Order: sequence, then C-alpha cells, then structure tokens
Amino acid sequence: MFDSLSDRLGGVFDRLRGRGALTEADVRTAMREVRVALLEADVALPVARDFVDKVTEQAIGQNVLRSITPGQQVVKIVHDALVAMLGADASELLLDVTPPAVVMMVGLQGSGKTTTTAKIAKRLSSGAMGRERKKVLMASLDVNRPAAQEQLATLGTQVEVSTLPIIAGQQPVEIARRALQAAKLQGYDVLMLDTAGRLHVDQALMDEMKAVAEIAQPQEILLVVDSLTGQDAVNVATSFSEQVPLTGVVLTRMDGDARGGAALSMRAVTGKPIKFAGVGEKMDALEAFHPERVAGRILG
Ligand code: GDP
Repeated sequence: MFDSLSDRLGGVFDRLRGRGALTEADVRTAMREVRVALLEADVALPVARDFVDKVTEQAIGQNVLRSITPGQQVVKIVHDALVAMLGADASELLLDVTPPAVVMMVGLQGSGKTTTTAKIAKRLSSGAMGRERKKVLMASLDVNRPAAQEQLATLGTQVEVSTLPIIAGQQPVEIARRALQAAKLQGYDVLMLDTAGRLHVDQALMDEMKAVAEIAQPQEILLVVDSLTGQDAVNVATSFSEQVPLTGVVLTRMDGDARGGAALSMRAVTGKPIKFAGVGEKMDALEAFHPERVAGRILG
C-alpha cells in the first residue's frame, strides 16, 4: 500500500545513511524531497509541511549532525515522527464499562461502514482481540438506503452475531433507544450501532449523528473512511471530527491503497488514532493498525 512513498523515501534515506558527515544543507535538501514524496502520496499539504518542519528542526539541532552516524540518526528522527503522525498510542477499543458498551460507526455511504461494523462484531464475539468473547448485538440505523438494515442482518447471520429485529418505519433515534434497551435487558456486552451514511457530508446527517450519540452515549465513535479517496477522505475526516466526538478512525480499502497519504493525514486532522485497517471484502479482512509497522514499511 505504501510502495510508491516507500520507494521515494527509500532513495532519499539510502543517500543519507551512506554518508559519514552531513551538513545542514544536506538535511534541507533531503527534507525537500521528503515533502514532495509526501504530497505525491496524497498527504494533506499542512500535514506534510508541519512534518517536514518538525523533522528538519530536530535533525539540525540536538547535535545530530556532529554525531558519528548522522544519516542514521536523521532516518530515526523521521521514523519516530512518522509513528507519531500515524498515532503512536495503542489502538484498543475501550469497552471496559458496565455493559453494554456502545460502539457507534459513522461515515459516508459506501465507505465500508456496514461491512466494518460486522467485521468488528466478529472480532469481538470470537475473542480475536486477545480478550474474552463478547456477546455482541448489532443494529442498523440506516433508514435512508433501501435494504441497509437487511444487509447488516445478512452479515450478522454470516458472522454469527445477533442483529436487532427490524421494525419498518422506525427512525434512527427510536431504533437506537430500542437497541440500547434490548442490549441491557438481554445481557449484551457490546452494542454496535451502524448509522446512516450520506453521499456527502451534510448538516442533517450531522444532526442525526449527534442525536443518536446523545441517546446512546457511546464509548467509541469510529469514523469509517475509504482510504482510496485520498484528499476527500481527509476532508470528510475534518468535517466529522468538528461535529462529532470521534474516538478513532477505521481506514477501509487499505488493500487497494497505493499511495497511503490518507492514513498519514488522518491522525493529524482528527487528533484520533487509526484503530483498524480494512484490507478486503471478507469478514476477517480487518487488521489492528500498527503505526510502527507502517512507518517501518514506508522507510523500507
Ligand atoms: P457503507 O455504505 O459505508 O455501509 O458501505 P458497505 O459496508 O456496504 O461497503 C461498500 C463496499 O465496499 C462493499 O462492497 C464492501 O464489500 C466493500 N468494502 C468494505 N470494506 C472494504 C475493504 O477494506 N476492502 C475492500 N476491498 N472492499 C471493502
């Protein structure tokens, strides 16, 4: 997924690593190339600029250039800055509350929200997150898209996770209330709410989201974004994070993401960690997001 960025940066850093002494000008030249590589990988401009400024300052200061292996140290500074940019903190779901813990999924239509809801439900209910198996209930609040609720029910059957029975004509807030009550009465550990998407960010969508969050008081609000949409993904993340108290991001279609810039920008624009990466259409095609691993891969 990060191949092109990796190739570009790999070239820059191979040159740095191979050098004994480095001058300030060497570092500045290398960082200009880093900036271009980031922009070409679709990293948002302010994010790329901040990154390069910070790294340049650190590389030139701290006696790095006078050390025995300046090239390697500069590479390490870039590595650490990449990890920080991707979100260094652990990306566990925070579900240790009096049950039911509520996980609310938000995002645009087609981002992979329903699929991801079922994937996460499967992980939780099968104990795949290295924890005990959770009893999970899923509910679709998507009353806009025809058959959205049925789609979640079908996925539920596939992953062996219960879904809230559908009552035609109910509105999202009512469904959320009913789901919460069912989860409490029937002893579920986790309730996953798959909210309605829209084609574009609009105020009606945001208002609905806020009303549902008010009722459900979720522990996690995960924004699902399609990594293939590049700069659009960044704009979507900005809009949602301004209006809804997100706790994390899920990047889908990382299996097809050639440039990877969306991942790099996400943390900076939302301030929240990427918790999962969707890597395919199958129900087990979901990975925990590991900043260290991704940074390592980018630098080669
Ligand atoms: P929603 O409208 O946001 O609920 O989107 P859906 O969950 O219905 O997903 C839309 C399409 O994207 C479906 O065909 C999914 O199988 C596909 N999809 C979702 N996540 C991924 C992913 O990580 N990789 C790939 N290749 N396809 C995905």
